[in-house]
Amino acid sequence: MSSILIIEDEQSIAELERDYLEINGYSVDIENSGDLGLQRALSTDYNLIILDLMLPKVDGFEICRRIRSEKDIPILMVSAKKEDIDKIRGLGLGADDYIIKPFSPGELVARVKAHLSRYERLSGRKESRNNEIRIRGLMMDKTARRVFVNDKEVAFTTKEFDLLFYLAMNPNRVFSKEQLFDQLWGMDAMGEIATVTVHIRKLREKVELDPSDPQYIETIWGAGYRFRI
Ligand code: CA
Repeated sequence: MSSILIIEDEQSIAELERDYLEINGYSVDIENSGDLGLQRALSTDYNLIILDLMLPKVDGFEICRRIRSEKDIPILMVSAKKEDIDKIRGLGLGADDYIIKPFSPGELVARVKAHLSRYERLSGRKESRNNEIRIRGLMMDKTARRVFVNDKEVAFTTKEFDLLFYLAMNPNRVFSKEQLFDQLWGMDAMGEIATVTVHIRKLREKVELDPSDPQYIETIWGAGYRFRI
């Protein structure tokens, strides 16, 4: 469930916003002053912030600037004055959207939905980038569990994929057969250490140009294996 923080000093408006958002399945917190709102926005992980401009203690401009310097979540600014919108834009505070009071709750909910789904799309892409490894001619996509060697897709069994991904995620580190076995087969009572050797051989056949002279998965005699980058 997405969580939203409303920073708004007019309690009746804040409650109206909260009620509509909760009906639409969001979890909502309210803060009525600028300083507490800012504190809460920075210390808690919200998915979106609805921020009134005119607030006691710390105003919305400053709050927006401070949140933006630490977080990239959507910020929807609310103001009673149309001319404030130009000011928000002009200051380049990094607000994602602006809404003028009075607005209909339906409009607010629609904007919130749009920004949350856009943000989720963007952060989803970010995540899949982190789940991708590219080393020379080798590309592994953890999300899709696909491997490409010199732009050609190669099929891997589940364990082969897990072993290659684990080694590639920890490059230049030597792992003994026992360590790899514990890491990848530890819960599997049917496995035995020799299975590591078998899997390493299969990985080399699939990713190395010359499996007898490996460029990715090196054997360190007497110690184990190392993924070289
Ligand atoms: Ca206000």
